Amino acid sequence: RSKRINVWRQVMVKTWIEEASRNNCSALRVLPLYYAMTEWYRDPETVRVLYGLTVSNGIVKKLSSGVAESSVAGTIGVLVTPSLYPLDQFTLARDVQPGFNSLIDSVSRSHEFLTSALENVLETDSFTRRLFEIYKKTRQDNQQTCSLGIHRCDYMLDWRGDDGGMGLRQIEINTVACSIQGFAPGLKSFHEYVSSRYAENETFNVPQNLCLEATVDAFAIAWNEFKNEEAAILFVVEEETFNMYDQLAIEVDLWKRYSIKCLRRTLSQVHGEARLGPGRQLILLDIVCAVVYFRAGYSPSDYPTDKEWEARLLIESSTASLSPSAAYQLMGTKKVQQCLASPGALEQFVSDPKLVKKMRSTFAGQYALDKTPEGDRAVELALQDPDRFVLKPQREGGGNNYYGNDVRVKMEEIRDTPEREAYILMDRVHPPPQMGLILRPHPRVLELEREPVISELGIYGTYVRRGEKVVLNTAAGHCLRTKPVAVNEGGIGVGASYLDSPSLV
Ligand code: ADP
Ligand code: MG
Ligand code: MG
Repeated sequence: RSKRINVWRQVMVKTWIEEASRNNCSALRVLPLYYAMTEWYRDPETVRVLYGLTVSNGIVKKLSSGVAESSVAGTIGVLVTPSLYPLDQFTLARDVQPGFNSLIDSVSRSHEFLTSALENVLETDSFTRRLFEIYKKTRQDNQQTCSLGIHRCDYMLDWRGDDGGMGLRQIEINTVACSIQGFAPGLKSFHEYVSSRYAENETFNVPQNLCLEATVDAFAIAWNEFKNEEAAILFVVEEETFNMYDQLAIEVDLWKRYSIKCLRRTLSQVHGEARLGPGRQLILLDIVCAVVYFRAGYSPSDYPTDKEWEARLLIESSTASLSPSAAYQLMGTKKVQQCLASPGALEQFVSDPKLVKKMRSTFAGQYALDKTPEGDRAVELALQDPDRFVLKPQREGGGNNYYGNDVRVKMEEIRDTPEREAYILMDRVHPPPQMGLILRPHPRVLELEREPVISELGIYGTYVRRGEKVVLNTAAGHCLRTKPVAVNEGGIGVGASYLDSPSLV
């Protein structure tokens, strides 16, 4: 079997690289081979074992609405066998991450750049406007102990690009609520089991992944800079958090390795319980908070009333280190990223020309929809050929973009309104499909399903700066999210994609 898998791997890579440009689904030609390899998936015993494995490895989420937080868990969908990923592109993504960490920090400190990039967005997007107001109010008298970045840059491979190869294309930079680090250890042990039981061990080349540890280390470093052993880390969370076990893994590791305590509160609870103490310390009931970690606060629905915005302002005015600060969160907007992709922008912030070149090589085409001749041209292009693009508003968390004919419909709706400037247009990236074996989440687990899938690689980055001293700047592990080819959106949280590991080739 092991031999057959190797043949499959070779054929797949050949398909990817040499036949890439011919048509979108040539990878399907290796289908019969793949089926032969994976006959075992039909065995109900296998499904029982794999399903149990996800539960026992903590690859779970809160199941349904309205039940107590800790009471019910269902599984999250996973790829049973790791998906192939080209080593050179994986390495490139990891290599440029410290550059992106510094870029995020530098842009967040450039009032001029943030202001001019977001100027037109602020006119119609009230969510971004309120966040910007908080940033403006606190920026001059900023007391935050450290700048703390827990980032994730996401990429897809483009196999129809000009370079003819398998170019890495950045889909977006996330600066707020980057998730699923917590599942890395469980996923590792899941794939190790599959490998040893069904694929004779050395078949998969899954790289080490320390994203959970690295995230926790970054929090501990920022916490340490605060110099108060009693201080806690505050997790700002949604009213109802389906992805709570992912967050719990971070909380548990913070205690296990550093004896740091965590609190979980919604923004409205923060409003009721928090105040600024002596020297503008953030005090929740009677506990001082050294660090605030936002796993909510990126969506308008997290701010149902003015109270939640007041809580955000209170946090922003304090001495706590924030992941992210309002400035980091603004840097993470789609609009700022579109501006950074335009010629000459990167050079303003990154001095090493070699690094600029490497970073830029990952960019996909992005277009402003301003009311300028170029903006008008972008609108026309999108109306003519909507399949070439993705239309994005200034939102996070999945489920907000427009694809295919919806690009045309939405564009027609906004083209003559000022609202259009709050969107950006991006070239659509087409990753090479490969066959995936999906263990779908409860309650759909009946049998494993195999279908063509595409992947999105995420590289985490951690960054801590105190004053002018950069205390930490590193690539901090990775994640792979994989989805059926026909699905437009991504994201584990919205149920569009599934957890996966890269197997490097
Ligand atoms: P969000 O901040 O909501 O995650 P993204 O820009 O990451 O927004 O878009 C969500 C998903 O849409 C991505 O995970 C990816 O699957 C898909 N997507 C976004 N941009 C592109 C693109 N340029 N080409 C192909 N798919 C894209
Ligand atoms: Mg995304
Ligand atoms: Mg995002």
